[in-house]
Amino acid sequence: MDLTFLEKDYTLPGTFFYLFVVFSIIIFLRYVIMSGLYQRLIYDRLSSLNPKRIISPKYPKTQRRREVIWSGISSLLFGFIGVLMIMAWQRGYTAIYVDWQAYPMWYIPISFVSALFIHETYYYWIHRWLHHPKIYKYIHKVHHDSISTSVWTSFSFHPIESILQAIIIPLIVLIVPMHLAVLLLILIIMTVSAIINHAGVEIYPASWRANNVMKWIIGSTHHDLHHRRFTKNFGLYFTFWDIWMETESDEFDERWERIGK
Ligand SMILES: [Zn+2]
Ligand SMILES: [Zn+2]
Repeated sequence: MDLTFLEKDYTLPGTFFYLFVVFSIIIFLRYVIMSGLYQRLIYDRLSSLNPKRIISPKYPKTQRRREVIWSGISSLLFGFIGVLMIMAWQRGYTAIYVDWQAYPMWYIPISFVSALFIHETYYYWIHRWLHHPKIYKYIHKVHHDSISTSVWTSFSFHPIESILQAIIIPLIVLIVPMHLAVLLLILIIMTVSAIINHAGVEIYPASWRANNVMKWIIGSTHHDLHHRRFTKNFGLYFTFWDIWMETESDEFDERWERIGK
């Protein structure tokens, strides 16, 4: 991988601004392209092939414009935090590594699972806090203005929420040694799972609910219930915190069965 960008001096306003613009554009295009493809290839196809899988059939037309604008602002903030992360990496503050020999190979899956667990835990509790009656209307309401969600809802957050969501990744790599490839994989999973969970179409097989491993993964049915009911299903990737804290919706199993029939 070409790492020559690490040799540039980002304390200079020109280079900082250049990388900020490049990162923001990449992040925004990634959102637009992946959301657009998912809508065409998955949602539209399943609408005709298996309509039972469609969870959000009604989607207000004016909603998409609002969501794309909020997502554009989120992309700028993610880009800004991305540059700060590069600067921290340059100065040796992070535990990111690129040499595969730096840690044993068995450490790779451990770092991956640990990062996901930390991220899940952080998100679940931040999300509960964002729903506090005194906080909700100032920040998280922006995301919940989309009751019927779509692929375009995936990055639609108030700027404070975008920052809260983004800073966990630099915080994790300050502590957990992580190969650059693992970090990139986590960034891809973040984007893809946000799209899957908001797309309004269930793609996971009905048999997963009875599978001891797959039942922990959150899909569109799970997160859709969060947007419609507000007080249940706070998880990000996994269901375990909702199960441990008894915040999983009672309607979930019944909905899941209806889709799988
Ligand atoms: Zn919420
Ligand atoms: Zn959501």
